[in-house]
Amino acid sequence: MAVLEVKDLMVFYENAVAINNVNLGCERGKITGVFGANSAGKSTLLSTISGIILDIKRKEQMRGGQRIVVLGSVLYEGEDITSLEASFRARRGLVLCPERRRIFPESTVMENLRIGGILATREQAKKTLEYVFTIFPALKNLRKREGGFLSGGEQQMLAIGRALMAQPKVLMLDEPLLGLSPLMEEILIEAIRTINQEIGLTVLVSEQYARPVLPLIDYGYILENGAAVLEGDSRELMDNPDVKAAYFGV
Ligand code: ATP
Repeated sequence: MAVLEVKDLMVFYENAVAINNVNLGCERGKITGVFGANSAGKSTLLSTISGIILDIKRKEQMRGGQRIVVLGSVLYEGEDITSLEASFRARRGLVLCPERRRIFPESTVMENLRIGGILATREQAKKTLEYVFTIFPALKNLRKREGGFLSGGEQQMLAIGRALMAQPKVLMLDEPLLGLSPLMEEILIEAIRTINQEIGLTVLVSEQYARPVLPLIDYGYILENGAAVLEGDSRELMDNPDVKAAYFGV
């Protein structure tokens, strides 16, 4: 059964449609991918699922800016959470690791991780911290380093570690490979696979470049101009001629 479902979702920024009638499901314990070019709507989709769109909408309203309209529904563990605040969704295990990491640059690695675990019990935080250092041993050596002084790959490790500290049931990763070297891409893909397999975490990952991520996912969706134009399991997508042409250059 899908732990997370998006039904007939439409998102408008003023009169421009950013998400166009998207239907999507994430199976428990599986890795689901969302792929699309720049501006395809990946971040808007994840903001809507995480509830952050409600905060953005409120801020826009307060400063008399553009109107953001969300239609359709987001279901989590069978319940309609479309109007639920982001913080409540996070408390219930729907955790977003945002695009471009958004770590706290002036806080140390350890402080960043502790902030992530602010709502966890002491026991959970201790256990998860150990696990984060097992998955990303590099972070252990860097724990006193300020976030802003880490490399892009290390920052991404920290962003994922911080998200894990929030005790997710569904971890959403918005373009985790953005701007990373092929070697670092490989390390992160392997880490995501390990986390999924070892603790059975459900993952929803968005990426612009499908090539490194397609082998990782169980099921995926291709977004174009806000619409899901294609879906299938990893093999089906990799074998699809349009996907091959767009992402594999053949
Ligand atoms: P990228 O890879 O560049 O992050 P994306 O696939 O995540 O792209 P979105 O950022 O969701 O795409 O953008 C989808 C569309 O909505 C784009 O046309 C974008 O310009 C528009 N958009 C996104 N955020 C806003 C906003 N706050 N206000 C107005 N338009 C927005």
